[in-house]
Amino acid sequence: MPAQFDITELHWLLDVVQSIDVGVVVMDRDYQIDVWNSFMENHSGLGADEVAGRTLFDVFPEIERNWFSRKVETAVMLGTRAFTIWEQRPNLVHFKSYQPITGLADEMYQNVTILPLRSTSGVSDHVCLIIYDVTSVAVNKRQLESANNQLQELALRDGLTGLLNRRYWEQCLEQEFSRHQRYEHPASLLMFDIDHFKNFNDTYGHQLGDEVIREVARLTRLFARETDFAGRYGGEEFAVLLPDTPEDGAYQFAERLRKAIAALKIPHENMILHVTISLGVAELNDAMLNHTQLIEAADKALYQSKENGRNRTSVAEND
Ligand code: GH3
Ligand code: MG
Ligand code: MG
Repeated sequence: MPAQFDITELHWLLDVVQSIDVGVVVMDRDYQIDVWNSFMENHSGLGADEVAGRTLFDVFPEIERNWFSRKVETAVMLGTRAFTIWEQRPNLVHFKSYQPITGLADEMYQNVTILPLRSTSGVSDHVCLIIYDVTSVAVNKRQLESANNQLQELALRDGLTGLLNRRYWEQCLEQEFSRHQRYEHPASLLMFDIDHFKNFNDTYGHQLGDEVIREVARLTRLFARETDFAGRYGGEEFAVLLPDTPEDGAYQFAERLRKAIAALKIPHENMILHVTISLGVAELNDAMLNHTQLIEAADKALYQSKENGRNRTSVAEND
């Protein structure tokens, strides 16, 4: 501000403050409001005359008083600006967002600057709040983040079934293997394969085959726990890693799944079709040197189920 300014210049300044597209609030050390610009009027629906003399916390009960006053007091004491940013706290006051965008935001996101104001005597006896509407930035960033998460998720999953893809599933198995080595947690692996599926495809068509694979995956997900890792290991081969589960628990899981799949009714033309699966279960043990040995053990047990007539579960023998 110039050293000498007359009342006209002050008037200009007030005009600027009024029309600027950020919120400006000046309040005294008791949080009583002195200045309230038109941005504040427009978004709060309250005119300057309606808030004059009221405290900020009275007008905006949503402000967390302890947190905010500590921030203001620190800024005043140090004589420096303080900031709040939307990444840490979406907003200071609840304003509706008028941005005609997605349904993602209906409240305005805000960055806020807290600016201690010194009087001519050098004492900070007022505080100015500058409220920036950062909704469009915030919404763009949130959308980008959610698109990235979805992409990342897609890269880990198999397109037909939504189960983990083989590559990612094997990474999970490797991690679980090292966790087991460190903490001696039990873990079991279940592998299974649809019986005579080539025949099914040849007879009823590949499309119905795909439908069956999706249904098998759906039931697998249904029976698995949040913490299990269910993956599509090959075309019609699946693998479920069951952390913190010893062999008998894994066997029970396998049998429930086997029975549910055998009971599945697959309508086709005027018929009801059925499929079965053969399963192999192996528990992780100290003799195993790497995760592929666990896969081999479960695969061997699966092969036994095939050999012994299919539609059954075999448990790997500990050697
Ligand atoms: P087995 O009981 O010994 O497992 O017999 P099988 O016919 O299932 O065994 P095989 O491994 O010879 O055949 C697997 C068949 O699974 C081959 C292919 O027709 C079918 N298949 C593999 N992936 C897919 C897929 O993504 N969609 C469909 N529809 N079929 C698939
Ligand atoms: Mg197979
Ligand atoms: Mg098969």
